[in-house]
Amino acid sequence: MKLPKKTKRFCPKCNAHTEHKIDIVSTGHKRGTLTWGSLSRMRKRGLNRGYGNHGKYSRKAVKSWKMKTKTTTRKVLIYTCQKCKKSTQAKQSRRVSKIVFE
Ligand SMILES: [Zn+2]
Repeated sequence: MKLPKKTKRFCPKCNAHTEHKIDIVSTGHKRGTLTWGSLSRMRKRGLNRGYGNHGKYSRKAVKSWKMKTKTTTRKVLIYTCQKCKKSTQAKQSRRVSKIVFE
């Protein structure tokens, strides 16, 4: 999907139509420290000790044996006002495989 880099939109703070920059809202990153924290808490409770896998992961990850059907992901656009630098998110997300800014 092709989108322009800038558009004219209504800015509630400026109370006028101004130039807005379009970006995709990032989905964040994996927090490795949290998994470690939960493991240490499990150990305090007396769990997650010894050998074996505690009955988990008896078969391969779903990724390896299930066919991928969805090729698109939900993307949320964020509009940043070039005048006051305030940003607003799009009311509706859309399913697209790729967004290209021109
Ligand atoms: Zn503004």
